[in-house]
Amino acid sequence: MLEDLARIRASFEKELREAATLDALEHVRVAYLGRKGALASVFDTLKTLPPEERKHAGEEANQLRRDIETSLSEKRTLLELTERESALKKERLDVTRPGVRQERGHAHPLTKITREIIAIFSAMGFAVVEGPEAETEYYNFDALNIPPDHPARDMWDTFWISDPKGEDKTQNAKRKTGERLLLRTHTSPVQIRYMEAHQPPIQIIAPGRVYRYEATDASHDIQFMQIEGLMADKNISVANFKAVIQTFLSQLFETKIEMRLRPSYFPFTEPSFEVDISCTYCRGTGCSICKQSGWLELMGAGMVHPHVFKAAGWNPKTSKMIGDHFAGFAFGVGIDRLAMMKYKIPDIRLFRSGDLRFLKQF
Ligand SMILES: [Zn+2]
Repeated sequence: MLEDLARIRASFEKELREAATLDALEHVRVAYLGRKGALASVFDTLKTLPPEERKHAGEEANQLRRDIETSLSEKRTLLELTERESALKKERLDVTRPGVRQERGHAHPLTKITREIIAIFSAMGFAVVEGPEAETEYYNFDALNIPPDHPARDMWDTFWISDPKGEDKTQNAKRKTGERLLLRTHTSPVQIRYMEAHQPPIQIIAPGRVYRYEATDASHDIQFMQIEGLMADKNISVANFKAVIQTFLSQLFETKIEMRLRPSYFPFTEPSFEVDISCTYCRGTGCSICKQSGWLELMGAGMVHPHVFKAAGWNPKTSKMIGDHFAGFAFGVGIDRLAMMKYKIPDIRLFRSGDLRFLKQF
């Protein structure tokens, strides 16, 4: 009996050494511990032994079973580890391999510069306000001191939502004069809307799209972005305007910008002036873009005309808020134009061309 056990142990150890896979190990387990395995027949034989012999042989047989179980379990752990390692090797991850690049968009150059402009004016205490793009004749013209017969209306070719003089039978044509709708030609109407709803002092900027019915070329488009500014309080003067605009330009162009004011005419300001800046292309030495003058026209501005305050319900004669020395300055500047100067873009039409070769540069 004991010889049988020694033989079983020896052959088990040999087969265990040879088992190289988990499958092979399972076969070994069944061959020795299974219901019809080597140990099962040993225990069958044990029953037939006389009692004194059975006790000792039984202890030995049980010891052998425990040893086999322990050895199998140790080998199983070992094989599992090896198989996991080889599986890992097969699906090795190459961390140096280039990844798949995600396509990512970015803000349009006009959006970018608008945000920059807003940030600069916000830091100087200006609030940002918006108004409708489909505006009434009253807010676009009349309230800004441009009555229907005023020649200044011809300064802007206007997109009427329906032709006010034509045979148009649409809803818009039936509206009263002043209430007819048009695509705003400037952002100045936002000033009136804001002044109607607020009391002085005020300090606002109004960025937004404006529309002109005109032929397009490198510097004209039927649609562009404009930013309107208005500051009204006691003792506001052209000096305040110069300081605000000088600060704005220096921060936007990130360099000291020379500016000069030239007398001009706008119906809604008195006095009115054009603001020129030293050419950003040649720094004032003269080039083809500034026509050798060293100066570029930048914006229209002026001190707000009293009629505009009155149209908004701010009457200097009756209002306690507005007394002597009350004044305001206003300005309007093309955002497209600022972007062209800052980024040296030669053609305004590029902004709305949808050309990725252009847009990807920003
Ligand atoms: Zn120049």
